[in-house]
Amino acid sequence: MNILIVEDDLLQATNLKILLNRLLDAKISIIHSGLKVAAVCAEQPIDLMFCDIDLPDLNGVDLLSTLPEVHRPKGVVVLSAMNQDVVEITYSMCLSANYLFARGLTKPISNEQLSDILSDFKKQTKQAITNHTFASLNADDIDRAFAEGWFINHYQPQYKVNNNELIGVEALVRCQHPELGLLTPASFLAQLNQAHLQDQLFWVVLENALKEMAEFSNRLQLSINMNQKSLNVSMSQRFLDLCEQYQFPPEQITLELTEDDVYDSGVTSLTNLANLRLKGVGLAIDDFGTGYSSLSQLAILPFTELKIDQQFIGNALLNFKSQQLTVSSLQLAKSLGLRSVAEGVEDHETLAYLRQIGVDLYQGFLSSRPVPLEQLKTLI
Ligand code: C2E
Ligand code: MG
Ligand code: MG
Repeated sequence: MNILIVEDDLLQATNLKILLNRLLDAKISIIHSGLKVAAVCAEQPIDLMFCDIDLPDLNGVDLLSTLPEVHRPKGVVVLSAMNQDVVEITYSMCLSANYLFARGLTKPISNEQLSDILSDFKKQTKQAITNHTFASLNADDIDRAFAEGWFINHYQPQYKVNNNELIGVEALVRCQHPELGLLTPASFLAQLNQAHLQDQLFWVVLENALKEMAEFSNRLQLSINMNQKSLNVSMSQRFLDLCEQYQFPPEQITLELTEDDVYDSGVTSLTNLANLRLKGVGLAIDDFGTGYSSLSQLAILPFTELKIDQQFIGNALLNFKSQQLTVSSLQLAKSLGLRSVAEGVEDHETLAYLRQIGVDLYQGFLSSRPVPLEQLKTLI
């Protein structure tokens, strides 16, 4: 591993190098000038760069935002003795500038903070490499996918936060491509939306889920993602008929709406929702806080559940603002009488925090990734 420390203060740079040397076996170089960073990075690929924001010649913020993409380190840790706010905004800038990994640290740096950062870095870059084996479906593929049944469901369990009881699953669609292998929604959802096929997908996912859930005699709760466009045509009777056909109680289903579109509160969609709510079907606002008009949607639609986005949950213990947004979303859910679900729980510390603040349910890699039906059976 190649580490670069960019720090004008000789003493602080040396201290950091000593701390790092104790924690890992790496080649660690120090430079004191921001202007030299681009040349050093061009010479040898850097894995992780520790960069002081307050450099005398070229400040760290400008340096990180202008470093040519081809020579960028995989990860960066922004250091400052100054304002926590500056560290946070620089950190956010690094994430939008597509650094694979970014963290902010206010000095002085402790051994414990460094060791956490190094282990997060290893985890995250490994995951990014697996996620990058990425393919996308073309128009022909999409037609064949529907005709030949390539769309299958994986299921991610949802647990009660207070006692870890598995009470339900979220169906997450996958595409089993004959040559490319198993693809996640990132490889095909945008193409499907562009071709206006999201509604067709919804019915495939729903029917597959109802068919498969019928195998469980203890009847898990089932959450299904739905695009708001599926509500713009009369659909509630078709939905209830399918539940009847597979003998699955509608009151155990929750439909998850994301906020990627402005909600069209037309007569048809409100009628659909009223009919579904009458039969006990739940309605969740997914990825809460990341789209737009979330609050106005809460006022219009009969939601029963609020899913706090994984972006806030993942950073709840690392970043003060994410923590405050998690707490505020939870308070909002409680005050409106909605069930709260935390998405993207990856470690025990975060789960303990969610327990402390009183979130109802969680899902996340900590307990289980989304899994095929056979594997779900062994989890239950
Ligand atoms: P979502 O509904 O918010 O689903 C949660 C996503 O977070 C899933 O990604 C899941 O694999 C991932 N996830 C769960 N736990 C963790 C964790 O601990 N850490 C991290 N980093 N990620 C975690 P997936 O399956 O790739 O789905 C992405 C999105 O695609 C979903 O987000 C949903 O918006 C959409 N989607 C999935 N299935 C369907 C579907 O059947 N219909 C529609 N319209 N959209 C779907
Ligand atoms: Mg969802
Ligand atoms: Mg979500």
